[in-house]
Amino acid sequence: MNYIGNLIRPPSEADSIILQVTVGCSHNRCTFCGAYKDVHFKVKPAATVYADIAFAKNHFAHKNRVFLADGDVLILKQDYLTDLFKVIRRELPQVKRISLYGSSKAITRKTREQLCELKSLGLNRVYMGLESGCNKVLKQVKKGDTVESMVAAGVKVKDCGLFLSVTILLGLAGAEASANHAVLTASALNDINPHQIAALTLMVLENTPLGRSERKGLFQMIGPGAVLKELYILVSNLDVKRSQFFANHASNYLPLSGRMPKDKYRILAEIESALADSRMLVPENLRAL
Ligand code: SF4
Repeated sequence: MNYIGNLIRPPSEADSIILQVTVGCSHNRCTFCGAYKDVHFKVKPAATVYADIAFAKNHFAHKNRVFLADGDVLILKQDYLTDLFKVIRRELPQVKRISLYGSSKAITRKTREQLCELKSLGLNRVYMGLESGCNKVLKQVKKGDTVESMVAAGVKVKDCGLFLSVTILLGLAGAEASANHAVLTASALNDINPHQIAALTLMVLENTPLGRSERKGLFQMIGPGAVLKELYILVSNLDVKRSQFFANHASNYLPLSGRMPKDKYRILAEIESALADSRMLVPENLRAL
């Protein structure tokens, strides 16, 4: 397979065929993100992508999921995507699930009909990074989006019958705005009501603008106890109808998972226990992105 640069995929795509269609992220400005910092966004030549599909046909016939990397394949023109999905269907007929990252900008640019067309051609799952439900935080980290547009984008994805996974980032607001970030993020999640919520914990990377802000004393990452308190407030305020909830990414201090709302009080009790006993936490040096 032809892979360029850092290949980043959601944990739940570990067993998928990773088909790299674009390199980098079309936005690439979030101050906390070091994923594609030195990479200019580009679309790979169709011939390269189709050669990878041919390779996958010969070598990954046992795999029935495809993840389209990198950052924002959904931003591509509809014709490009429909052709691509048709080739995947034809060459990899065993594939039951095609997934990709979708920014709210990319989702907003697609009409409902276009999203539904992609669904009819095999698109099954969209991963969207909300990060925070607080517009002030989104502006500070240069997310380039508002809560309102991301909520609308998430609802649109769901309305087309697509599975929606939403990622949020604990610690992103720093200490002072931590509780507000938690309450507003829960509120945005309640409005979207995604099928899946993935709570990650911020790791400040040196090569990012946020890393530089931290070195200048302009931003301070909260400690593990404060992260857990933020998570507690977030979960307390969650009122989603039926969502899988994951806070078991390698960046998290306390691995948690469950179904909301069924497991809400069990998860809150687990956070309370960890707040009372820091030995339950993943040591700092074992956290990873
Ligand atoms: S967080 Fe997502 S949208 Fe922001 S720069 Fe990184 S990959 Fe792009």
